Amino acid sequence: MARHTLLIDADDTLWENNVFFEKTIDDFISMLEPLGYTREYVRHILNETERRNIRQHGYGVRSFGRSLEETYLKLAGNMAQREIVMSVERIVGELEQTPPQILDGVPETLAYLAKHHRLILLTKGESAEQAAKVERSGLQSYFDAIEIVVEKDAGTYERMVGTFKIVKSHGWMVGNSPRSDINPALQSGLNAVFIPHHRTWHLEHEELASGAGRLLILGAFRDLRGHF
Ligand SMILES: [Mg+2]
Repeated sequence: MARHTLLIDADDTLWENNVFFEKTIDDFISMLEPLGYTREYVRHILNETERRNIRQHGYGVRSFGRSLEETYLKLAGNMAQREIVMSVERIVGELEQTPPQILDGVPETLAYLAKHHRLILLTKGESAEQAAKVERSGLQSYFDAIEIVVEKDAGTYERMVGTFKIVKSHGWMVGNSPRSDINPALQSGLNAVFIPHHRTWHLEHEELASGAGRLLILGAFRDLRGHF
């Protein structure tokens, strides 16, 4: 079989990520119960705040923590309490320290794939934070390169193709996000493997588009073995 280049997403593809954010959001909303707003409304305000902060400060735990704090201050108004702000900082700190939980079948599948193909980890987010997660995962030895980018759009994939001299027909993006992994990769002419994760972050949802490349949809990371 020909050697392919697999660009592989990390959060919610190699390890759990969004489920921990969701747990923190649940705890946060519970903290705000005394303010008397419905959980849905608090969530709505948080989502709006997050969208704004991502544009300004990018992805990552710190940007997320800022969104929680701003949401609280906005909703509490002149009833804001310092203890609640400190509790918010505490749960964000706990989130940052959460040990990585590698998804089922990932290490053995990477070990197999690395023997036959070129693997490049491609993750977006805050650089130091993502690098720390990669480090703690212990998976870095399977990859020829680790690429941390601020956003994954068609331009990002074109850049990867150029940097790593990838023949597009033999290049694949593997990930859980239609918006960041699948659609822009297909748009740039690469192939893609969509491995849905049932807890994918709402901001990553998007209709699957079609492009020049091939699209595979798999049920689990270990299923890659049957195709590569
Ligand atoms: Mg992901």
